[in-house]
Amino acid sequence: MSAPRTPVLAGNWKMNLGPTEASRFFDDFLAAHPARADATVLFFPPAVSLAAARAALRDRADVRLGVQNVYWEAGGAFTGELSVPMAADAGAEYVLVGHSERRHVFGETVPQTVRKVRAVLDGGLVPVLCVGETLDERRAGRAEAVVDGQLIPVLGTLTQDEAARLLVAYEPVWAIGTGETASPADADAMHRAVRARLASAYGAEAARAIPVLYGGSVKPENARELLAQPEVDGVLVGGASMDPRGFARICAAG
Ligand code: PEP
Repeated sequence: MSAPRTPVLAGNWKMNLGPTEASRFFDDFLAAHPARADATVLFFPPAVSLAAARAALRDRADVRLGVQNVYWEAGGAFTGELSVPMAADAGAEYVLVGHSERRHVFGETVPQTVRKVRAVLDGGLVPVLCVGETLDERRAGRAEAVVDGQLIPVLGTLTQDEAARLLVAYEPVWAIGTGETASPADADAMHRAVRARLASAYGAEAARAIPVLYGGSVKPENARELLAQPEVDGVLVGGASMDPRGFARICAAG
């Protein structure tokens, strides 16, 4: 049976587009992207651009916002960090957890991602858990084992109701920002493996309802084919999400 088909089309700006550029982006994007009820379109701007993004989207409730990272404590002496209540207050509904740049550039560990997902759920926001293997891990035939190692510790801490709020993004590290894309068939195969893992934790029906997004050099040119894969429920787009017209084309492909 196929997965639910309300595609999720998400843009992760990484450490790009400050408030002024974010306002300009949305002027162009909203002109190119008509509101639609049959897809979830969301952006992860840098936290300092949330206010500008929120202002730009005041008449477009169809476009949602999230943050790229949080810390699990609600507040206190954690210089440089951002809490879930603060993110929610600033207009975020979604939180990326365990993005490969957090794991590989900043050394985020699996136990830390477990704590972050817990804090996001307890704070009423939606976690988008990013998982994916490196090229060496893939070449060593360990792609599924690595993804399992990132997924299972989180799944083990969620109730069935909490799992229903989760999104997963499969993002092979070797495809992020490199111009390399997993072939649609490879992406679908990994998504199938992720879905099987979700099914063994929560049952097949619940697993089918959890959106599993693909990320890794998604562009207007390859989005449609990726999104056509039976197990691909959406895309998480980095570099190409900063081009307003290009990202509108990606949204139109979903
Ligand atoms: C990302 O940042 O999540 C990502 C997939 O980046 P890119 O699309 O640039 O590969």
